[in-house]
Amino acid sequence: MSAIQVEKLTQRFGAVAAVDDVWLDIADGEFMVLLGPSGCGKSTLLRMIAGLLPPTEGRVLIDGVDVTHAPPQGRDLAMVFQSYALYPHLSVARNIGFPLRARDMPKRAIEAKVADVAAALDLAALLDRRPRELSGGQRQRVALGRALVRDPGAFLMDEPLSNLDAKLRAGTRAELSALHDRLGATFVYVTHDQIEAMTMATRIALLNNGRLEQVGTPEQVYDEPASTFVAEFLGTPPMNLLDVTLRSGVATAPGVTVRLDLPDRDLILGVRPEHLQLTTGDEAMLRGHVTRVENLGSEEVAICAVGAATVRVRARRPIGPRAGDTVALRADRFHLHLFHPETGRRLV
Ligand code: ATP
Repeated sequence: MSAIQVEKLTQRFGAVAAVDDVWLDIADGEFMVLLGPSGCGKSTLLRMIAGLLPPTEGRVLIDGVDVTHAPPQGRDLAMVFQSYALYPHLSVARNIGFPLRARDMPKRAIEAKVADVAAALDLAALLDRRPRELSGGQRQRVALGRALVRDPGAFLMDEPLSNLDAKLRAGTRAELSALHDRLGATFVYVTHDQIEAMTMATRIALLNNGRLEQVGTPEQVYDEPASTFVAEFLGTPPMNLLDVTLRSGVATAPGVTVRLDLPDRDLILGVRPEHLQLTTGDEAMLRGHVTRVENLGSEEVAICAVGAATVRVRARRPIGPRAGDTVALRADRFHLHLFHPETGRRLV
């Protein structure tokens, strides 16, 4: 298994820095998820790690060895793409065994290895089929099998679940996590899906505009977002963010009164929808009215107008107030997040 280090990695396409000065240490056996919105540079970063794209600047090290200029096949990595890239005219068995035939492994040994991998991925009954005779989930498993059969030092995956429907994706997430636990292999996994990241990652690297915003465990990035970007990217609905002015220990804005024992300044106050509670007492921090209630099944989201801002509250159904009702809301102090008004970086 392999540890991967990325130092100062940069990729410029003309004037655009698709990846900009990224430093990242991926430990041996880690499940590192590269997360971010479309166009933030995730795939470009992965392609540079894989050796498919030479960096404009910076280095890639695998187990301490500089491989920046090594070809993909010299890196002992296996890549799984969104498109699966299976050979349509070959059977499942031959697709899985392909990398071993390319290495001139004896036929018997290939068959044994393919059988092992097929058993692990529940593909044993499908070995004679062609890719077109498989479901999306089965094709995805074959692509994974072709990567697995090589026993690589690390697996690099670019949105491998994005062609699957929601139900199959949930099941495959669990399978991938179990596979990671069983193999103890290093996974580097690209997605824009926060649920995939939160459920599978040992750590998440969140990218924005080619730059790393935060690297941390799912709990760290959710509970202590380093910036308003991270705060809004993770969570459904995302964190509420309010521009407030702090004077003499009270942060205010229209409809907002929050006691904060800090020096005078402007700041952005953040609070997650699930951390807001309805209150009737003097401890109200936010006052406004409900504009709409959305039913999520077991929970509801009340969308509230607080001054000119929109604040969302999430709680078990029925949440109580309906459209048109006035509401007063509070949160515990440790659930309040404070950010710099211009840079959006976390303050405390
Ligand atoms: P997605 O989730 O949509 O695949 P991504 O985060 O993987 O997005 P990249 O594919 O890495 O993003 O692209 C990052 C930026 O670099 C984008 O603005 C993209 O348009 C640009 N880009 C990527 N490849 C090239 C290229 N070969 N030439 C020019 N620009 C490129």
